[in-house]
Amino acid sequence: MHDATTAINELKQLAEKFREERDWKQFHTPKDMAIDVAVEAGEILEHFRFRTNEEIMQFLKDPQKKQQISHEMSDVLWGLLYLAIDMDIDLAAAFDEKLKLSAKKYPIEKAKGVNKKYTEL
Ligand SMILES: [Mg+2]
Repeated sequence: MHDATTAINELKQLAEKFREERDWKQFHTPKDMAIDVAVEAGEILEHFRFRTNEEIMQFLKDPQKKQQISHEMSDVLWGLLYLAIDMDIDLAAAFDEKLKLSAKKYPIEKAKGVNKKYTEL
C-alpha cells in the first residue's frame, strides 16, 4: 500500500475489519480514541525530546529510527480513523473544508514566509 494509490476509505475499512475481528469497538469511545490520538502523538514527540533540530535530522537518516516514527504516525492515523468512523466524519471532506478555511485565514499575500498566527497578520 502507498499514499499515492490508497484512499482514506480503504484505510477506514482495514481499521474497522481489524477492530471487528478483535471485538475492540466496545473499548473505543470517542473520549478514549481522542486520548489515544494524543498519547500516540506524544510517542512521536518522545523521539524528539532533548534533541536539537540538527540531531533530529541525523536521527531521521537512520532507516530504523525513521521507521519507528512512521509507526507512531500510523498509530495517530489509526486513532483518527476510528474517531472518524465512530463519529461519522468524512475525513477528506473535513480536510478540504479546513484547507479552504485556512486559505482564507492565511492569504498567500499576507502569510507567505511569515510564521505569525492569522490574528497577527
Ligand atoms: Mg504507538
